Amino acid sequence: MKKFLAIVLVGAMIASVAMLAGCGNNSNNKSASDTKATESAKATLTMATNAYFAPYEYYEGENIVGIDVEIAKAIADKLGMELKVVDIEFDSIITGVQTGKYDMGMAGMTVTDERKESVDFSDSYATGIQSVIVKEGSEITKVDDILAKDATYKIGVQLSTTGDIYVTDDLGDAAAERVVEYQTGNDAVSALASGKVDAVVIDNEPAKSYVAATSGLKILDTEYVSEDYAICFAKNNTELKDKVNAALKDLIADGTVKTIIDKYITAN
Ligand code: GLN
Repeated sequence: MKKFLAIVLVGAMIASVAMLAGCGNNSNNKSASDTKATESAKATLTMATNAYFAPYEYYEGENIVGIDVEIAKAIADKLGMELKVVDIEFDSIITGVQTGKYDMGMAGMTVTDERKESVDFSDSYATGIQSVIVKEGSEITKVDDILAKDATYKIGVQLSTTGDIYVTDDLGDAAAERVVEYQTGNDAVSALASGKVDAVVIDNEPAKSYVAATSGLKILDTEYVSEDYAICFAKNNTELKDKVNAALKDLIADGTVKTIIDKYITAN
């Protein structure tokens, strides 16, 4: 009996996941039918991002621009689709993609084994480095200084990012006392500038933008972790993942991805 119930429950779960996935497709159809008047109505490719991560995604006036947006646009063009960018909390991207609310998540998102349990990733299109920002003149000079077990430094991170995950793991029991999670990287950097935390661990490119925009801060020379950025998809959406990967492969091979990255990141 119990076994039967379990089967029924699993069946119901599969059905609801399928319905949710269906919702994503329906929204595509809907927007396609909305523009039926124009012959060239295209299916929508909805990308969830968090537009506070320059130069990958950020606001320029009312528009969201950046490396991820341009690469996604190039992918959508290749697939004959219309790109729609939706700005949400970084922390909500994976769930939104999992439930089919968004077709894909692209947000300078690092591929991790833990995330792979929830979503599938495309091939990687860029690399990132977790860097440490401190105040100029800080006695913190290397990553090990903030990770030392006997240190008391408070470390600011953006909630649920890899910076948060690594520091929390590395500090173990001390994490509750020393890691301070903020909703955005900007909040973490403001906390550093006002002396609420002693260091911020964050991806290197946003780190450079923050340091350029805030006086009295610097990035440590030593790097914490290097990582791969990729696009995430719902696990049942292999069809879209495969199409995006094929487009991405072409865009990497013909130099488009490099040109886009070089436009936003000048080699130093
Ligand atoms: N690369 C980091 C991560 O994936 C941060 C991404 C972000 O803040 N947009 O967790």
